[in-house]
Amino acid sequence: MAIVFWSSHDVFAFSSSPRLIATRRFINSPKLEPSNMFECCRKRSMVDKVEIQENNVSGSFNMLFLGHNIALGYRNHTNIVMRISSVDSKDSDPSVLINGHFDSPLGSPGAGDCGSCVGSMLEIARLIVDSGWVPYRPVIFLFNGAEELFMLGSHGFMKTHKWRDTIGAFINVEASGTGGLDLLCQSGPTSWPSDVYAEAAIYPMANSAAQDVFPVIPGDTDYRIFSEDYGNIPGLDIIFLLGGYFYHTSYDTIDRLIPGSIQARGENLFSIIKTFTNSSKLKSTYITNSSGVTANAFNDERAVFSDYFSWFMMFYSRRVATILHSIPVFVFLFMSFMRGRSHSWSAAFFDFMKGFLFHAFGTTLAIVMPVAFSILRLQFSTQAMNWFAHPCLAFVMFIPSSLVGLLIPRIIWRQIPLSQDVSIVKISKQVLSDEAMFWGTFGFYAILTSVYLVSGLSGGFMMFFTSISMLPAWISFCLSVKSFGRLSLRTIMSYILPLIPCLAYAVYFGGFLSQFVIEKMGMMGSLPPPYGYYVPDAIVASLVGILTGWCVGPLMPICSGWLGRLSILQFLLHFTVFSLAISCQFFPYATSAPKRVVFQHTIHTAGSSQIMESTYDFSVTDSNSLLFLFQHAPEVAKELNVTSDFSIESALVSQRQDWMAIFPVSFLFSNSVKFSANKDDILKQYEFFPNLFVQNPYSNSENGPRRVHLELHLGSLEEIWVTVLNITGPLSNWSFADNVLPGTETYGGGPRSYICRLSGPSDSNWTFWLEANNSEALRVDLAVLEQKLVGPANRLKGLFPDWVDVTAYSSFMSSYIL
Ligand SMILES: [Zn+2]
Repeated sequence: MAIVFWSSHDVFAFSSSPRLIATRRFINSPKLEPSNMFECCRKRSMVDKVEIQENNVSGSFNMLFLGHNIALGYRNHTNIVMRISSVDSKDSDPSVLINGHFDSPLGSPGAGDCGSCVGSMLEIARLIVDSGWVPYRPVIFLFNGAEELFMLGSHGFMKTHKWRDTIGAFINVEASGTGGLDLLCQSGPTSWPSDVYAEAAIYPMANSAAQDVFPVIPGDTDYRIFSEDYGNIPGLDIIFLLGGYFYHTSYDTIDRLIPGSIQARGENLFSIIKTFTNSSKLKSTYITNSSGVTANAFNDERAVFSDYFSWFMMFYSRRVATILHSIPVFVFLFMSFMRGRSHSWSAAFFDFMKGFLFHAFGTTLAIVMPVAFSILRLQFSTQAMNWFAHPCLAFVMFIPSSLVGLLIPRIIWRQIPLSQDVSIVKISKQVLSDEAMFWGTFGFYAILTSVYLVSGLSGGFMMFFTSISMLPAWISFCLSVKSFGRLSLRTIMSYILPLIPCLAYAVYFGGFLSQFVIEKMGMMGSLPPPYGYYVPDAIVASLVGILTGWCVGPLMPICSGWLGRLSILQFLLHFTVFSLAISCQFFPYATSAPKRVVFQHTIHTAGSSQIMESTYDFSVTDSNSLLFLFQHAPEVAKELNVTSDFSIESALVSQRQDWMAIFPVSFLFSNSVKFSANKDDILKQYEFFPNLFVQNPYSNSENGPRRVHLELHLGSLEEIWVTVLNITGPLSNWSFADNVLPGTETYGGGPRSYICRLSGPSDSNWTFWLEANNSEALRVDLAVLEQKLVGPANRLKGLFPDWVDVTAYSSFMSSYIL
């Protein structure tokens, strides 16, 4: 039976109307009423039991998010939970959880992130019911209503839901783009979930190296809530990574989704769910916790794995990896011993080490050269990241210069005397030189494999594959030399051919990685001058350099005899200079690769209806500054009275404190500017502004701890996304997060402070208390993010060209001394 997971209806239902957390517009749409959504499952189910619940979750907790301490308070976020099980199943049966979120980030329709996830989940639910397959164990679908507000929906589920203790495995589906293959980014604890994935995935896309780098990537998913922060459940984190240009932008629309990707993900998920539900290792977390099963049954470490062109998975345990990944280093030492056995072991070893050092030098130059050229180009250009909308530019600029770096040491190599004496060894200098270079290069990848192993990382597989693939290539080369001579084309080909599976893998993985990184450079932040301007180009240049070294390096010992000529170096250098010049003619952005701009209408208020100041604040999230934006968006510049002599230095500076409403994203900004704006339009739209009231002004004692009860009125704001409190002073306790204070933050150069984000429907006031341990004043700075703009701000937003994605909102800010 052909299974069609690409159901545009499902995704459309979740991406056609904005899903605003605070206003519940999503749930209020009749088409999306939970009972309607799941009608198919209810009506058709003959053999399965289908239970559907709408849960409103509330809670409060502290977390470390992207290295920042933050407290979160939330109320009445909506989760929809559906459980499909056999008719005779019990409530306590171990189950498999599938989690995907239906909320979308600020200003984004969220078709990819994560309408696509919800579409996949609905389709799988329909398929389970329609196909008549009765899951051996219950499958729970968590349609999570608040992920973008820092994983509140999953927290609410794990803290309150009656089925949370029955979950024995989970799959978190996410999107950091609009498609491509869905990569298994995290798995654990233990190797069981990745084992299930390797067995079940029909189009596997996984690399254990991803788990090495995930902790340093600025992003987080619900995976941490289920398997780390609020549970120890074995699970998988499966993410769409390509198409990152549109991630969290207004361009994340249904027409940009890739049907083939969603189809592949659906087939993968359905198969993985089946395997999980049938697995004898599936135990409910309740049983696992109460009997200590985790310690015994899952007493193994993360495995080493990777897909090969999504055709199949290579998978082995860490114990096997420890043995396997040690082999290349022993081969390296053994071969130097074998070569030196007849005369001098140390002389042979020295020659091999010379080959090692030359390859290490070449690999380093392969990174340094493109970085140097990227910086050189920016000396002559007023725009960075020209490759952003045209990734091939990065390849034509940086691959040739990287090759130059790889080849330079090979030219020097010919002048280097060998330690082995030709007259004693009785082998020609050419042969000894080839051997030293080959085994030196082999040793380089062998030692890298060992470094990975010793450091406990899981990505050593790639270096292992490279080094081990060089052995058949060398054998084939040696045999061919005997038949066809050292310099024949056949001999060269006999070396290259056995390496092709490994080099093709390097190109496949490297191509995916470089495309991913190039797309993400649009949102890495605007780093401060003078170096910030160079950083994205230098990062992409060094990445292309590393990957070129990896893809071409193993060929060097033999092919450099042909390639290491001055004429070829000259050609590569000319080509590099030419492509650097050509790339300057390309504009960095396009509708298909928009520049991200954050536009905040900042309204400083006092009391319930007084406006102190109104400004338009702007920030960008990449290295082309606002000056670049105003130069290329003349209508915006005209509206803001930005003239040709405008400079960032002379403009009004928008401080980090002004961006409190989007903490901690505001740490990505530098060089933000603001323009004063009219106050009157605001009063036309809003009668009352957010205001904090002290409820017990007289109950405070003069000395010692004092507790201040507060009530937060949100005024006449209509579509509040979040409210952020920044509290400074002698705070010793509060009513949030089970009376636990988070770590402090220093924000915008101010004193150490506590930051709390509140979210949820804003139709009622927030009440809470703060406790101070002395009589010094507590200061509360309040920032309320309203998704609506007043008329003129909305008009200004509309003036931006279509290669710009504008995230625009109003921020109401006020301060209180308690
Ligand atoms: Zn998401």
